[in-house]
Amino acid sequence: MQGVTGSNPVPPTLENYALLPYAKTPPTSGGFLFRADYIGKGNRVPPITLTFPDGRAREYPEGIKASEILAEIGGRIAREAIAAKLDSEILDLSRVLPHSGRLLFLTADSPEGMEIFWHSSAHVLAHAVKELYPEAQFAFGPPVEEGFYYDIDVPTTFTPEDLLRIEAKMAEIVAADFPFVREELDKEAALALFRERKEGYKLQQIDRLGEPPSIYRDGPFIDLCRGPHLPSTGLVRYFKLMSVAGAYWLGDEKNPMLQRIYGVAFPKKSQLEEYLLRIEEAKKRDHRRLGRELDLYSINDEIGPGLILWHPKGGFIRYKIEEFWRQEHLQNGYEFVYTPHIARLDLWQTSGHLGFFKDNMYQPTEVDEQLYQIKPMNCPFHLQIFRSQTRSYRNLPIRWAELGTVYRYERSGVLHGLMRVRGFTQDDAHHFCRPDQLDDEIDMLLGFTLHMLRSFGFSDLEIYLSTRPEHAVGSLENWERATDALRAGLEKAQLKYQIDPGEGVFYGPKIDIKIKDSLGRTWQCSTIQVDFNEPERFDLTYVGQDGKEHRPIMIHRALLGSLERFFGVMIEHYAGAFPLWLAPTQVVVLPITEKQHEYAEQIKRQLLAAGLRAEMDDRSEKVGYKIREAETQKIPYMLIIGQKEAEQNLVSVRKHREGDSGLAEIPAVISEIQDKVRSKA
Ligand SMILES: [Zn+2]
Ligand SMILES: [Zn+2]
Repeated sequence: MQGVTGSNPVPPTLENYALLPYAKTPPTSGGFLFRADYIGKGNRVPPITLTFPDGRAREYPEGIKASEILAEIGGRIAREAIAAKLDSEILDLSRVLPHSGRLLFLTADSPEGMEIFWHSSAHVLAHAVKELYPEAQFAFGPPVEEGFYYDIDVPTTFTPEDLLRIEAKMAEIVAADFPFVREELDKEAALALFRERKEGYKLQQIDRLGEPPSIYRDGPFIDLCRGPHLPSTGLVRYFKLMSVAGAYWLGDEKNPMLQRIYGVAFPKKSQLEEYLLRIEEAKKRDHRRLGRELDLYSINDEIGPGLILWHPKGGFIRYKIEEFWRQEHLQNGYEFVYTPHIARLDLWQTSGHLGFFKDNMYQPTEVDEQLYQIKPMNCPFHLQIFRSQTRSYRNLPIRWAELGTVYRYERSGVLHGLMRVRGFTQDDAHHFCRPDQLDDEIDMLLGFTLHMLRSFGFSDLEIYLSTRPEHAVGSLENWERATDALRAGLEKAQLKYQIDPGEGVFYGPKIDIKIKDSLGRTWQCSTIQVDFNEPERFDLTYVGQDGKEHRPIMIHRALLGSLERFFGVMIEHYAGAFPLWLAPTQVVVLPITEKQHEYAEQIKRQLLAAGLRAEMDDRSEKVGYKIREAETQKIPYMLIIGQKEAEQNLVSVRKHREGDSGLAEIPAVISEIQDKVRSKA
């Protein structure tokens, strides 16, 4: 697999990106358009033409502000707009529209709008901190994936109580509803201003700026900023400061350590409440915590960061995933290959990875005066297997799969449990096919991918088709053909997808599939990538029907991404309560007293003989204690056995989270569990 799937998680994203629809009424001519007095006074300046999202174009006098147009439009958009977007430039509503172009208004329902919302909230945070700690100096305060932060240099170490005080001050600033006012200064004036305010980091930023500095005021607070911002602080009504962490100035550990306060803010109260609930739920499901509690895996500093130890229970789940994966691959025409963990450096020269992937590769090691490289990818090995003999058009398509473990360098700061690691096993495969087989291969791959993801309980998907970037290898004609094949495949399978224009890898177009977990977070797992580059670099050929040599098309694909990350996503998706077919222990037998041990042992043997994974808890603990522990371990079935059960040859069934479901005969319990295992329920 060429791309960066596997180790690089796609963090959870915001939803509801859709822009608000514009008010039905278009700008009326009674507004700013060519007013007779305006033209009549000889003030005629060249008007600008603004094109609205519905395609309507109107002329406006030069000097018009976004807010003036908005006032004219009225309606919901006028109430909810927080910035204007003119072509690709986002501007404060209070700014003069500098030229003609396509104009739309952003609300907090769009990702760009939300970024402005969050970034403006960072100003409110800084304003509050400055009031409480006048000696504080500020570094950067950007929006992040969910919320915002500001890096602050202040002699005190912020405590949770300090965050509450800062929140209270922020509430005052919000209530004061200060407008954000932009001012453009020359460099000297800006330097003087921030020197006077003793803002050392801002002085450094001004020095680096490649453009004239702009500042924004909200009430008494001044910040160096390019903008844009909300019209006023009053919009930041629902916010919360989440945490504080250390962060080096400019990310360099030789620089001073600053304090980074993280926060979130939303336009609606319900959004903030929902967010806080989700955070709470996500914390409970955090795979790092469950990994420890359920004894699934660990990371050990003596081994090294980003390197995973799979414990027996996690190992068992992985075994079940791999077993299913292998069966399905065999049934879908794949063959398995195995390849080494290191290879001569020259191989990576040929493949081009030394050129475009070097930053993610470890240093080579010397063996017999030759340099060897630990592998960051499996692809070159599969290419070499292809080259090991003459291939005929009759041999194609070839589908080679490998659970290949690769190692990639990631900065230690970005490592995160199972989600971002330094060593991981990709469920990798490469297809080699003739051009006339490409459509069928894509169809097959899409069907196979969806089947695999659904089997693990993921049916809510987001699909992206990425097209040709500016710098790319391969002929335009090939790109078009491959992109068409991907698009046709998606359409044939009636899958909804979005196009990411120009976001393909330089070697070919691709389809990425993100899965949505039970908390609505998306994770990128599957990718299908056409590659025109590697077959060229390795000079792959097959003998065609015409007896001549032809170049095969290569497809890289991963369905689960990496086993490590997929496992992490699964742990959080299921909150550790895996479906029966994956649960390391499916049934635990719980005798109430020692007198039932023999009967309980018999039941356990019957379960094992039926192919189920059963355990017996024969410790001399109270049964309530044993049940609680089995619940914590998220064992799907508990069979409780007391005197009554033993006498009647029955069991009392209790299911994880569902509670007691009464007495049952053991053959009925066994067949119920077997049915669920078969259907992967
Ligand atoms: Zn590959
Ligand atoms: Zn700003």
